[in-house]
Amino acid sequence: MIYDVVIIGGGPAGLSAAIYALRARLNIVLIEKMAVGGQIALTDNIENYPGFPSLSGVELMQKFEEHAKGLGLQIIYDEIKDISDDGEYKTLRGVNENYKTQTVIITVGASPKRLNIPGEREFTGRGVSYCATCDGPFFKDQDIAVVGGGDAALKEANYLTKIVKSVTLIHRRKEFRAEKIIQERLHNANNVIMQLEHIPVSINGNKTVESITIESVKTKERKTVPIKGVFIFIGISPQTSFLKNIEKDEYGFIKTDPYTLMTSMPGVFCAGDAHSKKLLQVATAVGEGALAATAAEEFICDVC
Ligand SMILES: Cc1cc2nc3c(=O)[nH]c(=O)nc-3n(C[C@H](O)[C@H](O)[C@H](O)COP(=O)(O)OP(=O)(O)OC[C@H]3O[C@@H](n4cnc5c(N)ncnc54)[C@H](O)[C@@H]3O)c2cc1C
Repeated sequence: MIYDVVIIGGGPAGLSAAIYALRARLNIVLIEKMAVGGQIALTDNIENYPGFPSLSGVELMQKFEEHAKGLGLQIIYDEIKDISDDGEYKTLRGVNENYKTQTVIITVGASPKRLNIPGEREFTGRGVSYCATCDGPFFKDQDIAVVGGGDAALKEANYLTKIVKSVTLIHRRKEFRAEKIIQERLHNANNVIMQLEHIPVSINGNKTVESITIESVKTKERKTVPIKGVFIFIGISPQTSFLKNIEKDEYGFIKTDPYTLMTSMPGVFCAGDAHSKKLLQVATAVGEGALAATAAEEFICDVC
């Protein structure tokens, strides 16, 4: 069987692309390596997706999935390892099987960036976490640290203030990049200790995390803060290393034509966080998924 479109990744961009492709009556499949929902399923509360003033990431993605499944979406659980262009069609090499298709929409998103400091890898799962919703409840009434200054860091820090005893917020700059509404909310919490213009240099402990050592970016002075958990939100890296034949920028984000979102491989499109842009959010991922599906449909019509 040769599909019209294979979508790689079941986050917001992939499910949006699926809805548009299914309504265009294309023969499609969505391939997901873990669980449908993507990164947003890791957050407790989303408040900036139009039409839904407040709901959890899981709830929002269940609505996306139900919508797509209602249109007949077929989801296959497999991990794609490579895409090759055989002229007539593309072949996607999966761990379980191979898939042939006329067009591909890459929506593989991103995973959290690491600090790459001593103790981070060693204590991952034993005090170091990249998901407040998943791991926050393990730190009830304890002192923890959050690293980062963007939307995700402050939003997740705010969520954690309601569970833990104190949040030490470590950020390398004087100002936060996060939305002002999220900053205001955090300033109202009475259990946040700001460590601005500081960077973490090591995470310390024995079997589990016991403290974090931070350094002033100005004076280079170091201090060690006793904490039981460290939540790291310092940005994301696109999950694109498996795509050897497709042009990427220096950070691994896939380059696309701005009008059609087509990549350097004809008939292969990219949407969402795997594609570099100013704002990596559900709203932008959804818009790009819709655009990529429409462009894929036109590509199929042009070559048929
Ligand atoms: C903690 C946190 C809080 C956030 N809060 C908000 C918020 O409040 N509002 C907002 O708008 N955005 C928020 N975001 C950002 C938002 O989650 C992302 O912008 C969005 O999920 C990007 O969607 P995507 O579909 O491009 O990628 P992703 O959501 O990353 O989904 C990609 C999917 O592809 C799958 N995949 C990857 N590689 C392969 C492969 N080789 N084969 C098969 N499947 C593969 C992955 O398993 C994943 O399911 C938050 C992010 C984080 C981490």
